[in-house]
Parts: sequence; C-alpha cells; structure tokens
Amino acid sequence: MTWSLKIARIAGINVYLHWTFLILLAWIFISSLNAGQNTTEAFTGVAFVVALFACVVLHEFGHALTARRYGIQTQRITLLPIGGLAMLEKMPEKPRQELAVALAGPAVNVVIAIVLFIYIKASGLSLPTSQLEDPSQITLGKYFLPNLLFVNVLLFAFNLIPAFPMDGGRVLRALLSMKYDRATATNIAARIGQFLAIGFVFFGFMYDFWLIFIGLFIYLGASGEASYETQRSLLSRLTVRDVLMHQYTPLHAWETIGRAVEILLDGQEKEFIVTEDNQIIGTISRDDIIKGLQALGKEERIKRIVNQDWIRLSTDMELNEAYEQMSRKKLSICPVYDEYGELVGILNQENILEAVMVESAREGSMMKPRAVAD
Ligand SMILES: [Zn+2]
Repeated sequence: MTWSLKIARIAGINVYLHWTFLILLAWIFISSLNAGQNTTEAFTGVAFVVALFACVVLHEFGHALTARRYGIQTQRITLLPIGGLAMLEKMPEKPRQELAVALAGPAVNVVIAIVLFIYIKASGLSLPTSQLEDPSQITLGKYFLPNLLFVNVLLFAFNLIPAFPMDGGRVLRALLSMKYDRATATNIAARIGQFLAIGFVFFGFMYDFWLIFIGLFIYLGASGEASYETQRSLLSRLTVRDVLMHQYTPLHAWETIGRAVEILLDGQEKEFIVTEDNQIIGTISRDDIIKGLQALGKEERIKRIVNQDWIRLSTDMELNEAYEQMSRKKLSICPVYDEYGELVGILNQENILEAVMVESAREGSMMKPRAVAD
C-alpha cells in the first residue's frame, strides 16, 4: 500500500501507519494551539492520541497472536485515523477458535484498563469522569492516564457491539456457528448487525451525529461480511476441476516481452504461465508485462520478469481453498494438475468470479442451495 508508512516490525508482523493518521496528529496539534494552549500542552494532546493508538496496536496484536496459535498468519497491521486493522489471512472457521481470536482484541483493552486503574489508584490520581475530557484540555499528569483508562473501556465496549465489522459481530457469529452452519450463522449475525445499524442511525438523528456515522459503518460492514461469506459457501460447493480452463497459451521463458505484448493484445488472455524445457518456471500477468516493457524494453526475454513465486493447484481442491491460496500470494493465474501429476489446465481469478456469478444465479432460480454433483 503506497499510502502507508512502515513504522515497525513486531513479532514478525509489519505495522503500517496510514498517512492520513499524520494529518490527524497535525490537526490536533494545530487546533490545540488555536485554542490558546502552549506548545507543551499541544504536544501532550498529540502524545495522548499516540498513546491511544498504541493501545489500538496492542488490541490488534491480541487478534494476530491468538490467530497465530491456530496457524493463521497476519500479513500486516495498519493504523488508520478511525482505528487499527489487522489483516489476518483468514478467520478461523472452527467456532471456538474464531471466538478466541475475536475476543483477544477487546481482552487486551481490559488488561490495559486494569493496569491503568491499579496505577492510578496507587498514585492517588482521580479516576475519569463519565465524560471524556476535551483532547485539547488534557494536561500532562492529571488527566492523561485517567483518560487513557477511559478510552480503553470505550474501545472494549465499542468493539463488542455485536455487529460486523466489529469484533462483537465475530463473537456473535462464532456463538451462532456452534448451532448453525457458517453461512447461516453469518447471515443471522449480519441481519442483527444491520438491525442495530438502523437503530444507530435512528438515534443519531435524535441525539448525536456520530451515531449516524457509526450506523453506516456497521451497515456496510454487515453487508460486506454477508456477501463475502455467501461467496465462500458458493465456492465451497465447487472444485477446481469444475471451472479450470483447458485452453491457454503458455509463454516460453526465452520469448521476448514484445512477443508477450502481441499475445496480450491479440486475445482475451491477461495472464500466462511461463515454461522452460517443458517445465513451468512461473507466471506472468498483464501488469508484469507492461512494467517489464517500460523498464527493460521489448527485446528483453520474458525470463527476466517472470514471477517465480507460484503454486500448483490440484483438480480436486475446493474452489474456495484455491481462491484463498491465490489471494494470499496475490496470484491471478495458477497451473492445475490432476491426481497423476499431469498438467491439465489453468485457473485464473476470472474463472472464479464467473463461477460465483453462475452459482448465485442458479441458487436464485432454485431457492434452495444444493450441492453441485461433479
Ligand atoms: Zn478488534
């Protein structure tokens, strides 16, 4: 992501900062000065936001490190002005594991809040009042830690709202999955989330503008999660064999980039597998070809630009598994092998999208989902 700045690598996970976050800090600093504060006080306001986001990072690490216990890696953690985002490869599908991963984040905020509470009590500071002090009024010492305690309690409560994309939505889904299948559980959880979202918007109009914003955020999150899960359950009924393409044009490693451009312009194919001595050595996408053309010219061999980080798919693999593996490696094309190890075709992202469209059309016309016979 070009808009993000890598700020740390902790426990093997890269932490990125979205550049808009810096605008938030600058805005707090400038508005504090405008409110008549001196530079030290303005810096304290900025330090508070940084401390708050440090808590958010710890929250995200709660998710990431718990997921790691179940063999799920986290690609990155990104800090946005609206919060943190841990990009897990996927959520675990076993309800108990999903429950643990979802709860781990808010649990971190509870721990932070307890530690702060003990420290504040021990050092004789006063506890926060129910209303968060205006960030521009935070002075070092007196309100800093009590307010940090207060926002951790808020983070805990907010994240446990039982609606996607909040952690509470996943907790709810995990609990429902113990009784229903995952697609049904997701749908019920998404409905509850949308119902809550409408409630937020409604109360937002009466009381507080921010509730409208939160309501819309939840509504979109719930819809997104439901359609993602629908797609997954559609794909899980198909195998790679059902959608693979038998006809494709392999490129040879010694052909030129210019030749690849010709083939690209000549037909429908946008990504290719690359062979050398009758062996696949990698794949190449339209973007690779264009970038190679710009950087190296059309006379250069394809071998120079081939993506060697490719994977084999097998014909009997479930399509959602193939899709996940391809997304994880950002591959748009993969060679497919049968049970005897023979290359039988290729699978690309477009095949998968078409399969989703066909399956959902079929489902719409038949009302009841059914397993696709091979
Ligand atoms: Zn969370």
